Amino acid sequence: MKKPAIEGGAPVRETKIYYGHQYIDDADIQAVVEVMKSDNLTCGPKIGELEEKLCRLTGARYAVVCSNGTAALHMAAMAAGVGAGDEVITTPMTFAASANCALYCGARPVFADIDPETYNIDPDKVEAAITKKTKAVVVVDYTGQSVELDRIMEICRKHGLTLIEDGAHVIGTTYKGRANGSVSDMTTFSFHPVKTVTGGEGGAVLTNDETLYKKLLLYRAHGITRDEAQMEHEPDGAWYYEQVALGYNYRMTDMQAALLISQLDKLPLFRQRRKEIVAKYDEAFGRLPMLFVQKEIPDSDTTRHLYILRIVPERLTIDRKQFFEALAAENVCCNVHYIPTYYFPYYEKLGYRKGLCPNAEKLYEEILSLPLYYAMTDEDVESVIEAVTKIALYYEKK
Ligand SMILES: *Cc1c(COP(=O)(O)O)cnc(C)c1O
Repeated sequence: MKKPAIEGGAPVRETKIYYGHQYIDDADIQAVVEVMKSDNLTCGPKIGELEEKLCRLTGARYAVVCSNGTAALHMAAMAAGVGAGDEVITTPMTFAASANCALYCGARPVFADIDPETYNIDPDKVEAAITKKTKAVVVVDYTGQSVELDRIMEICRKHGLTLIEDGAHVIGTTYKGRANGSVSDMTTFSFHPVKTVTGGEGGAVLTNDETLYKKLLLYRAHGITRDEAQMEHEPDGAWYYEQVALGYNYRMTDMQAALLISQLDKLPLFRQRRKEIVAKYDEAFGRLPMLFVQKEIPDSDTTRHLYILRIVPERLTIDRKQFFEALAAENVCCNVHYIPTYYFPYYEKLGYRKGLCPNAEKLYEEILSLPLYYAMTDEDVESVIEAVTKIALYYEKK
């Protein structure tokens, strides 16, 4: 049996591999350079072009692109009318922004536990968490696998709640044949460099609802409008505009939009490669009883954003932290997605305590995220498999 590097053996690879990385080609660079030589660095034609492209990709009627995925969530929560005294139900197995958007609006996040098999928010737990104060539900398609949108939409309709889908992981996924982004009341995307397509930074909100769309446009730019139909006073002249709501500057630049338009051309490639890598990992790790492979959700044709390796603690002599460190010694650098949101000191001070969501808390103890991105070579993939297998076998509980 091969000795792990952490015990003094040779590492499976000489150079470090990280869990995520962008892929930028010459077409991407050229697209950005062209904008930089043009008249409009922001508020230019690339914004509308990208929005149209996102609508074509998903089938959503409207798209509003913005500065990042967190801004997208904030705008969506505002458009849903979330305010002081309201409650917003969300999952703890996500990045902090999914719950923070409720706090931005003066509302209280309420955490509903995940399904222990799919790792997505459990629709029954959502329904059980609804009170008179509930205004919206923020679901997360964890790792890119769609939540059970039918069930969750039905629950939201029944109780008059707005469904916001934090789709930071989900671009390129379809649910029952419909692209995620076209189903929920609003879906948000993030274009951070570790996500499937990137604009450096960037975000979007997609919706089929014209009223929500108009609100999102206002919140993206200070609450300012040049549309006479939205104004309260007679225009003074051609220069006239009005601020009719309190919004922010959440605009995206045309450089980011041009990069994203070019990146979206490669989404089918990105999607295919990610699927290939996931299949290789699943095949290799499915054979090892000390590892647990994430269940595929049958209704979701998934473009996987994250690959979650879950250990079976009863079958190993090491825990997740030691597994993580052993992989790092092999030069396979992983990450953990996610620390349950309410573990953070900021949330603790708001009164949240451990024990709220046992399934999410158990998952957190057992997972790490393996490298998964388009630019990985076959050799990279093989070395990750080799490192994981070596460690799992070496530390198997006999
Ligand atoms: C990345 C991410 C966000 C935040 O997106 P930014 O573009 O970084 O602001 C929100 N939610 C989830 C689930 C994410 O993964």
